[in-house]
Amino acid sequence: MQKIDGHTRLCGLIGNPVEHTMSPVIHNTLAAMEGRNLVYVPFHVGTGQARKAVEGAYALNVLGLNVTVPYKEEVIAYLKETDAMAKQIGAVNTLVRTQGGYKGYNTDMMGLYRAMCAEGIKLEGEEVIILGAGGAARAVAFLCAWKKAARIYLLNRTLEKAKRIAEEVNGMAGRGAAAGNGAGKVEPMPLEDYREIPSDRKYLAIQATSVGLYPKTKEAPIEDKEFYQKIHTGFDLIYRPSQTRFMSLVRGQGGRAFHGLKMLLYQGIIAYELWNGTEIPQEDALEVYETMKTEMGIEE
Ligand code: NDP
Repeated sequence: MQKIDGHTRLCGLIGNPVEHTMSPVIHNTLAAMEGRNLVYVPFHVGTGQARKAVEGAYALNVLGLNVTVPYKEEVIAYLKETDAMAKQIGAVNTLVRTQGGYKGYNTDMMGLYRAMCAEGIKLEGEEVIILGAGGAARAVAFLCAWKKAARIYLLNRTLEKAKRIAEEVNGMAGRGAAAGNGAGKVEPMPLEDYREIPSDRKYLAIQATSVGLYPKTKEAPIEDKEFYQKIHTGFDLIYRPSQTRFMSLVRGQGGRAFHGLKMLLYQGIIAYELWNGTEIPQEDALEVYETMKTEMGIEE
């Protein structure tokens, strides 16, 4: 544990709830590894208190904040500046102290990308199915489009939300021209219409709903084995539990499956790098990952 003195810098997490977060493990481990005089603390911020929390943190000279549910969209209004990519996604999860206020970033998207690269999963030219159209799915859809996936099926229980994301992603500057014959487009669909996805090819499926999240670990957004026969790789954003029902269903049909803990690791690493102007070597990132797994009591 870092000795706390008059030079200690403070970073933290605001959200509600924050009690089960793994982020302190990421940042306090990194600070200890680097010998940096920094501590990271979660702050439970009650309803209606987000503005005060952001302004108060700035007044207290807090170096940086992570932002989680339900404040990722709301806090944008309280920032001095928002990074272009975060603005497009419409959500921030990292606030970086600048002259006169915080600048907002979205490190979830790049965190997912780094996690996928680390697992050897590529997006370019890939046929992708995204399940969900909430905040996380939105970042995933932008990432897939940005990394030039060949086709993106966006399935959600509430079709309207999938349509809204599709409109925004497909409408990105220059995208219409780049997409040409319709390849690379986001196609919104109701979740129950998954059978309409062509079965003459295999897909990368990204599970971005909250179905299967602890404690409802026996649930998956789609149960039908036929759906999972179409999947060569399944990436679940959920990491609690580390083996979700979605992952079991993918593996049951011969696909590879991953949980979301590495995404969490890398969104944290990127935030830490932004706050401290440093670059974390890959072997240090993997050491932090081992600490996270130990903390969660998992091996895989
Ligand atoms: P949101 O609440 O914004 O979205 C939830 C999504 O789940 C919506 O698409 C919703 O559909 C869908 N959903 C919820 N219940 C059901 C149901 N019973 N049947 C079908 N669909 C359902 O959450 P987020 O986007 O913020 O997070 C989604 C998941 O991603 C969470 O489990 C979260 O833990 C995880 N996550 C992981 C991260 C990581 O670093 N690994 C980072 C961020 C998120 P509808 O629109 O119809 O309500």
